[in-house]
Amino acid sequence: MILSPETLLKSSRPQIRRGTYFIQTWGCQMNEEDSEQMALYLEGIGFEKAESFVEAQVILLNTCSVRKKPEDKAFSLLGELETLRRGRSDVIIGVCGCMAQARADEIRKRAPHVDFVLGTGDIGQLPSLVEEASQRRKFQKRVELPERKGKIVDDVPQRHLGRSPKLKSFVPIQYGCDKFCTFCIVPTTRGRERSRPTNDIIEEVTMLAQGGTKEVSLLGQTVNSYGKNLVEGRVPFSKLLWMLNDIEGLERIRYMSPYPRDFRSDLIETIRDCPKVMESVHLPIQSGDDAMLKEMHRLYTVDSFLEIVENLRRAIPGVGMTTDVIVGYPGETEEQFENTMRLMEKVRFDGAYMFAYSIRPGTPAGDRKDQIPEGVKKARLAKLIDLQNKITCEINETFLGKVVEVLVEGPSSRNPEVLQGYSRDFRMVHFEGSPDRKGRLANVKVTGSQQYGLRGELV
Ligand code: SF4
Repeated sequence: MILSPETLLKSSRPQIRRGTYFIQTWGCQMNEEDSEQMALYLEGIGFEKAESFVEAQVILLNTCSVRKKPEDKAFSLLGELETLRRGRSDVIIGVCGCMAQARADEIRKRAPHVDFVLGTGDIGQLPSLVEEASQRRKFQKRVELPERKGKIVDDVPQRHLGRSPKLKSFVPIQYGCDKFCTFCIVPTTRGRERSRPTNDIIEEVTMLAQGGTKEVSLLGQTVNSYGKNLVEGRVPFSKLLWMLNDIEGLERIRYMSPYPRDFRSDLIETIRDCPKVMESVHLPIQSGDDAMLKEMHRLYTVDSFLEIVENLRRAIPGVGMTTDVIVGYPGETEEQFENTMRLMEKVRFDGAYMFAYSIRPGTPAGDRKDQIPEGVKKARLAKLIDLQNKITCEINETFLGKVVEVLVEGPSSRNPEVLQGYSRDFRMVHFEGSPDRKGRLANVKVTGSQQYGLRGELV
């Protein structure tokens, strides 16, 4: 919830419960997961979750630097919080996440009312930083912001395992990235690639499954290169999937996002043969033009990508495939953009996350002089989205009459009479049924389709 300064001043004395926190999260699943960890640490020192930041004593902004928009939103909220702070000296404000890692100095300068800036690898330090900030408040000392500038995380972050299992849980298995794509800030904000020890992952997923988690999504920036630098010896990603498959109570395993160059035959065989691994692959292509891929420092070609798609579809007929695409990368010509359109027509992904290139200061692409005008980027993006929406609708229509297995997540947020869940190839499915089916697998016959998924009836 974003409130205007006027609203904040009007509500300058809301019902503040001491010992409450509020975390505003932007960005990817990794950030969602980090926020859950932060919440656990704060609850561990006696804080309770507040419904909004206006009611909270500790306010954390877990930021994202992947595009400009979430950074602008974070600075805008920091401006609002300055107004809030003027009326309430007890409030503690912390900035965490990728922006905290990459732009700590700027945050200090633009928002001196921030109490601390916490890097992506330092979540375990949250309790001591909050205690420190409250002590400073108590004795009316001037607040000095802890030094976090330029600190590149190189350890596997300390994890709080006291989480409440959900039906579907995210589990980070790898942090950072070694690929250095020219458009991406992640290697700066999250450091070099590190894998979590295999036993820790097994222990966490076992605990989650015992508590009711049916589906885990394994998280990593290039998740399929998991295990490379492990002290206890290399554990290939496909082997980890087989190990997780043995965990009792767990029904499904997803992972995101694999990197095309490291997508090898052992992983394809595992998706085919390992019962709990879902037949759904999110494989970012980014561009359908070889010269663009090279400039982006993506370590594969269009042909090698197409070969993976072909091998996957041959081994696992009906495998769901989605991708990420960037249009308007610096220097992208009309012809290069058309190559991306052609590739999308050729592959016919089930869905795609499509973006106009966003300048990221501090990246090689961000410094280029041949930036594409915003209007051109927008027009290309609209054209690509139109094409992909058409393809998605056409593919969804082919499911009419088929039976799909759905993990029932409960009533739909839009219509509580209708249940919803995802199929094994990651299609949203809506159908009528009793809410007590939540958490169970159901077979659903598809009776209708639309761009956002399928409708059906219980078999
Ligand atoms: S693979 Fe490229 S886009 Fe993905 S996190 Fe690493 S540097 Fe960023």
